[in-house]
Amino acid sequence: MATLTPKSKIVIVGSGVFGISTALWLAKSGYEDVTVLDMQDTASAAYDPLSGIDSASADLNKIIRFSYGSEIEYQRLATEAAGLWEEWNREIAATPADELPERLREGDRKLWWNAGMLRMSSEDDFGDFEVATLENMEREGIRESQFKADDEADIARAKERGWAHKLDPCRRQERFGSHKAVLDSTAGFVYAYKSCAWAQHLAKRAGVKMILDPLRGKVVDIATKDDRPVVVTADGLEIAADLVVVAGGGWTPSLVPEVQGLLETTAGSVANIQIPKDQSDLWSRFGPEIQPVITWGSRQGKDVYSIPRDENGIFKIGWRSRKWTNFQDVGGRRISVPKTAHVTEEKETRIPIDALNGIKEFITINFPELVPLGISSTRLCWYTDSIDNSFVVDLVPGRPGVAVCSGGSGHGFKFLPILGREVVKILEGKGGQTVYGQMWKWRNSPGAKRNGLEEGEQGPRVLSRQKMAEEGDWRFTV
Ligand SMILES: Cc1cc2nc3c(=O)[nH]c(=O)nc-3n(C[C@H](O)[C@H](O)[C@H](O)COP(=O)(O)OP(=O)(O)OC[C@H]3O[C@@H](n4cnc5c(N)ncnc54)[C@H](O)[C@@H]3O)c2cc1C
Repeated sequence: MATLTPKSKIVIVGSGVFGISTALWLAKSGYEDVTVLDMQDTASAAYDPLSGIDSASADLNKIIRFSYGSEIEYQRLATEAAGLWEEWNREIAATPADELPERLREGDRKLWWNAGMLRMSSEDDFGDFEVATLENMEREGIRESQFKADDEADIARAKERGWAHKLDPCRRQERFGSHKAVLDSTAGFVYAYKSCAWAQHLAKRAGVKMILDPLRGKVVDIATKDDRPVVVTADGLEIAADLVVVAGGGWTPSLVPEVQGLLETTAGSVANIQIPKDQSDLWSRFGPEIQPVITWGSRQGKDVYSIPRDENGIFKIGWRSRKWTNFQDVGGRRISVPKTAHVTEEKETRIPIDALNGIKEFITINFPELVPLGISSTRLCWYTDSIDNSFVVDLVPGRPGVAVCSGGSGHGFKFLPILGREVVKILEGKGGQTVYGQMWKWRNSPGAKRNGLEEGEQGPRVLSRQKMAEEGDWRFTV
């Protein structure tokens, strides 16, 4: 690839977290000709999944945690991102409403909520992982920010710092006589769709061009002509570029089939419970002032999380025990691709019954007061998993001027404000000199694939073999 100059023509495919953060940082770094293509109009719909946008980034909310156990590089980047999330909150609060993107003028004008995250055991003891995590935090000097729900000194410290009311929101101690949990007071959540809309607004303000359209923005091929990449869109237009960055989320493996074996598209299962505003007790108890983010039974076979209700009363619950694959024919290969509510040819709004039952179990045990409300909607949300859960940002071998920027693996959102800074260094050919360039480089998994990729189409996670939950299953039978 020719060396990038400020005038280089750079096309980014995808306006999700990976694409928009890259575009923003390219523009901030002085690149003058950056265009983002997306087959979905993420601008008009402001990435709102309830307004028909389907992507991992287009979600109501996402968990933000800064502690990464022994993965110190991710922890450092997340800590830098934390500063920027605070800065974005301040900037939005200080911006006159009529200068904000439309959806940020409505309701809460705040992206990042430091609501805390309670890592709750589903058993009577802590798993080994939780013990190891706390030991790591002790070593790194951040144990102070963590409160063990059954430790006298921690409870006293939580009271002093105003976190005590989040130690046992499910009243497990009173109801079951035991409650093993750790509250991480540095964590919380962001409004995901508003965050992406804000990042897109910043990118546009910095000079990035956007083509967000089901025809003009949809990339159907990336060819090579005269050693340069040429993007072909669904309306037949050919756009020659110096660099094409494919940040297509779950669609990346179908756009760049070479990533097969390194990346795989899988679905997470999500359900919502609508809390009515007129039920004032529930409304306040499930709001972010009282309710933390909760993870339950991670590594104990349950693996469910919940995020405080949003400003419209939606309480979101996710089930992580298994992710689903959807293999289809793509250019002669069998590749797992998204199957979503709106944008894909075959539509899907249901989740597998195993996932729904896992979510109902979480609610029944921990929040029985929500049982009468029932589930109000479900959604498959498509991840792009890498073999080692680390991102993939590099040039594609054998494809001049084509880079891939993907592999969010379920934890990429928190890096939205900062990710592009590291991506730009890699695109400039400095990846070999940076820690993230090394971590995210193109890699093979010789012999053994990992992280579920080894299962392929014969594995137990294939969506078409699952019994799907219908609307009638949304009620709880007590
Ligand atoms: C269920 C779930 C829960 C998660 N929870 C968290 C969390 O709590 N915290 C966290 O930090 N991270 C979380 N993540 C991870 C995070 O959401 C992802 O890492 C991140 O959003 C991925 O962004 P992306 O840009 O790679 O992909 P996407 O957001 O999927 O964006 C891809 C974009 O590319 C566009 N596109 C695709 N193909 C084409 C084409 N041919 N032409 C034009 N445009 C195209 C799509 O329309 C889309 O807009 C979660 C992910 C999932 C799935």
